[in-house]
Amino acid sequence: MNDRPTPPDAFQLTPIGIIESDFPDKFGIPRQPGLATAARASLVLVPPFDDPLAVRGLTAFSHLWLTFVFHQSPERWAPLVRPPRLGGNAKVGVFASRSTHRPNRLGLSLVELVEIDASHGVRLRLRGADLVDGTPVLDIKPYLPWAESRPEARAGFAPEAPPTLAVSLSSEAEAVLARRPDGDSLRELILQVLAQDPRPAYRHGAETRIYGVRLRDVDVRFRALQEQTGPTTLRVVEVLSSEGRT
Ligand code: SAM
Repeated sequence: MNDRPTPPDAFQLTPIGIIESDFPDKFGIPRQPGLATAARASLVLVPPFDDPLAVRGLTAFSHLWLTFVFHQSPERWAPLVRPPRLGGNAKVGVFASRSTHRPNRLGLSLVELVEIDASHGVRLRLRGADLVDGTPVLDIKPYLPWAESRPEARAGFAPEAPPTLAVSLSSEAEAVLARRPDGDSLRELILQVLAQDPRPAYRHGAETRIYGVRLRDVDVRFRALQEQTGPTTLRVVEVLSSEGRT
């Protein structure tokens, strides 16, 4: 008698909403939520889920679990993955990771709920999300610290937040930000995102390379400064308008 569980047939899931975020591209997004609290996002509910009744009482919770689809990841998956946290070479099982390349491509993020705007449809304004613009969201659940916060838990190869780098901005970059109404929050976002060192793990050490990360409507160009003795720092050399890329 084969006592292996028979997997249920594939079943259809319908997104309840779509993310609008400060991250037009996957590149540069912090590895987990809460690492760039200046990152703004909105979850815009879609019909028929955009009923204000469906979120009645939700603002009584400060944090939400979002279940979503890594829609920009390929559908193929492999049992072993290479977590960037381990330098990009060591392999672990996909279920021992938070990899974006996984069966069913399901993601789970704990985000801060700032407010709900139900004046036209339902828009949840969020803080600290690690989701690319356009991410489909499948479910929202309120976070229950007494049930889900486990500071004593063992956390494998990711026991604490990733290390951060010092980040500086050129006077040209500062001048561009000074002219923007959102300059202060954009500067904060740039500093927080670059502090996470978004450079690809295998590229570290290429100190001459100029990297680019798109945030909101700008292209942030930066390079690594390798001090003789001491940590790498990142230097923002330019902040360009993404449209014109002038
Ligand atoms: N907190 C979630 C989790 O644990 O399931 C996501 C963790 S995953 C390592 C975070 C990365 O997912 C981000 O750095 C970004 O590059 C990527 N990402 C965000 N939104 C995505 C999407 N819609 N499709 C594919 N990758 C995405």
